[in-house]
Amino acid sequence: MTRPPVFRFAPSPNGRLHLGHALSALLNHDLARERGGQFLLRIEDIDTTRCTPELEAGVLEDLRWLGIDWDAPPRRQSEHFDDYAAALSRLESEGLVYRAFLTRAEVRAAVAAREAETGAPFPRDPDGAPLYPGDRALLQPEEIAARDGSGAPFALRLRMELALERLAHPLVWREEDDDGATREIVADPSGWGDVVLARKDTPTSYHLAVTLDDALQGITHVVRGADLFEATSVHRLLQELLGLPAPVYRHHRLITGPDGRKLSKSHGATALAALRAQGATPEGIRAMVGMTAERLS
Ligand code: GLU
Repeated sequence: MTRPPVFRFAPSPNGRLHLGHALSALLNHDLARERGGQFLLRIEDIDTTRCTPELEAGVLEDLRWLGIDWDAPPRRQSEHFDDYAAALSRLESEGLVYRAFLTRAEVRAAVAAREAETGAPFPRDPDGAPLYPGDRALLQPEEIAARDGSGAPFALRLRMELALERLAHPLVWREEDDDGATREIVADPSGWGDVVLARKDTPTSYHLAVTLDDALQGITHVVRGADLFEATSVHRLLQELLGLPAPVYRHHRLITGPDGRKLSKSHGATALAALRAQGATPEGIRAMVGMTAERLS
């Protein structure tokens, strides 16, 4: 017997929802309903300074207005830091995690110096951020020990090379296309370098929390924007290291703003609340993101 599918929408309440979120939420919701599955909500609020209860209430209001209902109380990540800590200690006990003390300014200076010296661009991750150079590349062992001893802030990072050596088989995932057919994608987390597992300011990271929560909520299908396609390699790696099941993924097209760039909080005009205030209807929003009833049937 196959289990009914479980879909989710996982917004970060650090602003109001825009048209890009509407596409993601509607797709997940409609797919869950069409396939007789569940639709769950997760509030990704690990950044407890930028995410506020007011913004979360706004997100829920926008979703309800769109006609979206969810099948269980939302899971709020800020209430589950213990779960992330448990996963982190498991990885730590396997020697896969280290304390990273370099500040952003130190990394920036090291990257600039290296680029000036070699004339070549410093290696960057798929999001364009320089790979973490490693504390030992920049600091003397005494300095690392001094920072550690004096309680200097640190992030926890994954030892990527070591993690890849631990894999027993090639890392792949199933990617579902718009027509529902799936194909195999080869994951390549190495391009991300030593990813952050816990930030200096919050005891987890997006990668760790999203991976663990998808498993804890029993998510079978992760449907999200194409901007997270590359990050899926990291999530697959963490699933293997933590013994978690791999959902099917579907990375949908992004809605772009008038400037052709992916929508962000700065595209205020596409906020659902603003469109609603101007008289837009939920059906109108569906049409704007290309989610008419005909398209799904
Ligand atoms: N919280 C993430 C965001 O709002 C989405 C994470 C995901 O769908 O995996 O961009």
